[in-house]
Amino acid sequence: MSDPSRPVGPKIIAIANQKGGVGKTTTTINLGAALTEQGMKVLIVDLDPQGNASTGLGIEPDDRQFTTYELLLEDIDLADVIQKTEIERLSLIPATVDLSSADIELYSNEKRSFLLHDALRQTAIDRYGYDYILIDCPPSLNLLTVNAMVAAHSVLVPLQSEFFALEGLSQLMLTVREVRQSANPGLRIEGVVLTMYDARNNLSQQVEADARANLGDLVFECVIPRNVRVSEAPSYAMPVLSYDSASKGAAAYRALAAELLRKNTSLAA
Ligand code: ADP
Ligand code: MG
Repeated sequence: MSDPSRPVGPKIIAIANQKGGVGKTTTTINLGAALTEQGMKVLIVDLDPQGNASTGLGIEPDDRQFTTYELLLEDIDLADVIQKTEIERLSLIPATVDLSSADIELYSNEKRSFLLHDALRQTAIDRYGYDYILIDCPPSLNLLTVNAMVAAHSVLVPLQSEFFALEGLSQLMLTVREVRQSANPGLRIEGVVLTMYDARNNLSQQVEADARANLGDLVFECVIPRNVRVSEAPSYAMPVLSYDSASKGAAAYRALAAELLRKNTSLAA
């Protein structure tokens, strides 16, 4: 069910933060699943050589014959890299450790920053009718992340509710600015979402207060609580929305999807 008021083609969002372990992959998988519950058709692009999004969605390494590596560096049909997942309306382009060498191989390519952009804008993508493409970035501001930012309409930043969370954000914002100046002037910040939030912990509250004071409306109203069901779900190769649909984590990701959809419809109106 696409939104008729939106411009044609999927909305592409890069999920990025150069820190590891802040909830990028968790947010990509669960926001993706929550969007499908709202009737959206979603493609997740695993752009991290660790391949956690692929594993978390049940695509085992042996089943990753064609991956984002081939998508970026070889001439390959989208049909050969896109895989269906167990979740209705949710597809994936998987990654393997091969992608770790791509960062270096990309440098010798003249179009190095535009490879993902061009791959996702093949006319063939139209026939899939995706509403959203979510790109799970690696924990670095390398050429892979730059490819994601050049390909995307916006960047969504998961921010872990812990000490030093806001540090590093300025570096990320600087990269966004550079990408705007050099390759993608329309790149927006979709928002910053607080992850692993513990309401009983003063530190979480402090990080939230700092983030809202510094970033204002860019911070999503809803926060993602620390929830053990969220951390268990990947070992069962499913989003928390399927693993424990009634959990607080699932509810939080549903709220995030609803907020994102609200923002995007009001923008399009
Ligand atoms: P990143 O992709 O930024 O490296 P991950 O999404 O892999 O981060 O999350 C890092 C770890 O934290 C994972 O083990 C994940 O299961 C766990 N985690 C993420 N979000 C939550 C949450 N809301 N509650 C509990 N554990 C979480
Ligand atoms: Mg990750």
